[in-house]
Parts: sequence; C-alpha cells; structure tokens
Amino acid sequence: MNRLKRLMQGRNGTDQFAIALLYFSVALAISGSLLEQGWLIFLSYIPLIMSVFRTFSKDIASRRRENQDYLTAIYHLKAMFKRKKKFVTGTETHRYYICPHCKQKLRVPKGKGRVTITCPHCGKEFKKKS
Ligand SMILES: [Zn+2]
Repeated sequence: MNRLKRLMQGRNGTDQFAIALLYFSVALAISGSLLEQGWLIFLSYIPLIMSVFRTFSKDIASRRRENQDYLTAIYHLKAMFKRKKKFVTGTETHRYYICPHCKQKLRVPKGKGRVTITCPHCGKEFKKKS
C-alpha cells in the first residue's frame, strides 16, 4: 500500500475525466466485439491510454484544467438535454409551445383546456390545448 502511495505521489491520480475515458474505452471495446468490428476494439485503446496517462501525469495543473473543462462541457450538455426534455414533455405545471408566427418559445400553464395564446413577442394569437 505504501509503495502505491509513493508511486502516486505528485501525480494527478484518477479524476472524473479519467474515469469517463475508461468508460468510453470499455464501451468502444464492447461494441467493437459485439459488432465484430476490430477497428473499434483498436480505437478503444486511445481513451484507455489517455486515461492512464492522465492518472500518472505529473502536470497536475494542466490535468486539473482539462478535468474542469470536461466537467463544464458535461454540465452544459446535461442542461441542454434537460431543456430539450422540458420542452418536449413540459413540466408538472406548464407546457411549452413555439409561436407559429415568430418561432418564439412560450410557456403556458397546464390544465386550462383549449386556450388562446397571445405571443408576447409578436402580439399575434393562436389556439392550443394546454
Ligand atoms: Zn410570436
């Protein structure tokens, strides 16, 4: 255990990005063998090597920055999917529509039956079920 501790001293160690790269590598390898595509298995070594490199890297500042960039990208991606999901399914209390005249996104309270919506952007009206 001490030898491992000494080996990892001054190194980046595993971070979220390294773990994600490992998962990506495994996913590539599994899909490569399921689809019998040798090149996918070969490709799976790239994120694996990157992950090992990150874990043992001594340039901690750069690795931290990359990990932060990765986390930021994931955050934005999740937020984007959340917005898309909200738009498609609505929330508990509201539904979302696009104004047919100006393409503005509109939020309408749910459960009011058929309503006439006045777009606050272009001022035109259209009917929708809420
Ligand atoms: Zn409009």
